[in-house]
Amino acid sequence: MFDKFHEECGVFAVYGHPEAANVADLGIFALQHRGQESAGIASADNSTVHCHKAMGHVADIFTPTVLGGLHGDKAIGHTRYSTAGDTVILNAQPFRVTTNKGKMALAHNGNITNAMEIRKELEDEGAIFSASSDTEVVLHLISRSRERTVAAALRDALLQLEGAFSLVLLTPNQLIVARDPHGFRPMAMGQMEMSGDRISYVFASETCAFDLIGAVYMGDVEPGEMVIVGPEGMTRERYAPKRKRAQCVFEHVYFSRPDSIVFGRPVVQSRELMGRLLARQHPTNADVVVPVPDSGVAAALGYANESGIPFRMGLIRNHHVGRTFIEPSQAIRDFGVKLKLNPVRHLLKGKRVVLVDDSIVRGTTSRKIVRMVRNAGASEVHLRISCPPTVSPCFYGVDTPTKNELIAANHSTDEIRRYVEADSLAYLSLTHLREAVDDSKQEYCYACYTGEYPTELVNITELLESKVPR
Ligand code: AMP
Repeated sequence: MFDKFHEECGVFAVYGHPEAANVADLGIFALQHRGQESAGIASADNSTVHCHKAMGHVADIFTPTVLGGLHGDKAIGHTRYSTAGDTVILNAQPFRVTTNKGKMALAHNGNITNAMEIRKELEDEGAIFSASSDTEVVLHLISRSRERTVAAALRDALLQLEGAFSLVLLTPNQLIVARDPHGFRPMAMGQMEMSGDRISYVFASETCAFDLIGAVYMGDVEPGEMVIVGPEGMTRERYAPKRKRAQCVFEHVYFSRPDSIVFGRPVVQSRELMGRLLARQHPTNADVVVPVPDSGVAAALGYANESGIPFRMGLIRNHHVGRTFIEPSQAIRDFGVKLKLNPVRHLLKGKRVVLVDDSIVRGTTSRKIVRMVRNAGASEVHLRISCPPTVSPCFYGVDTPTKNELIAANHSTDEIRRYVEADSLAYLSLTHLREAVDDSKQEYCYACYTGEYPTELVNITELLESKVPR
């Protein structure tokens, strides 16, 4: 089985820091929300590349002993999310290999849409793969390149790829960071001042990783750009011709942390504006605005500020739902969602509630939450969603289910309202979403809301067949 669509990930890299592995550990810890299934760090000490990865959470995997074995002044780190069935350690990143161009480790965020096709060609020629991740395909292309240097071979490889990737490549003495020509997935650049006027360079999927380590955000790796950091310093080069930008709007809607700057824009600014515009577009007669935490908080604040309706934390989230619980055989109603959320009756009883969440995917969670709020005594529940209906699967690295399972792909807003048992349901319009992320230059991808994909998907019939019902 190929492991597709499930590459929601966080990546991090650091160059020129005496405690590189510790810094990478903190970096991926701050990116943990981007993936909780597995984590890995590779470090390099000029002669070799070390690597440790495991299933689980960053804080559990990287003990002082493990970090002590990751020598060197440069490191890359990765956190990976995958759906059930794909949680094999073989797919955990980074991938460390020895090639004809030396030792290297690679980690990436995104989904390479022609990876299956390339892999099939390579397999037909005798190549052996040990995992099902796109990352391994890139390593094969680097190894097979006629170019002599790693940077040139990587350039060669990247030019054969389609789709979404933000990647970090580590060799014993170099760090290379690259972003796909459309810039689907984010990749921020930062600096840390070290003793003796030296500078340590850092890269991360989101700037919240820089805040934790005390690095300064310097901008983004540009779409189609390759940044090479080595003993001679840092160089930036465009490896691919300019293409239309297609930054993932879902990073601003849901995926990134609100304290991050993503694609050069504070995520919280977008989310609050989504909430404000939602209040203008869909006003409600209500007593309280309640977010679905954590994803709905910033938009709910915007909604409350714009409408003048008081903001109340009427749902409290338990953040410690890491393990799987055995449900008592005497079934508890809506057990799964209750583990995560609990209503505050005192705030909800007898109230007309505007419930704000970022998105409805399958609709099952929303339905349980609406019920929960009503059972806590709310007299009315008006559900407001801070993005348009999700009608199409993502092929660029966000885990969305097949079109079959996307409730808005197959049902009208009123049908969804009835399914989730809300008194009213309204979504933010596409025009308002564009305004909320300040997309006057048309630099974002909205494919999950429009079905219009910014790249040709001709080479991925298999992908389409598996995601679009026939
Ligand atoms: P449901 O409608 O039951 O599928 O659940 C929707 C909820 O899942 C929303 O409240 C989102 O916060 C969350 N969500 C949406 N997209 C994703 C995603 N790609 N990965 C994880 N959670 C998501």
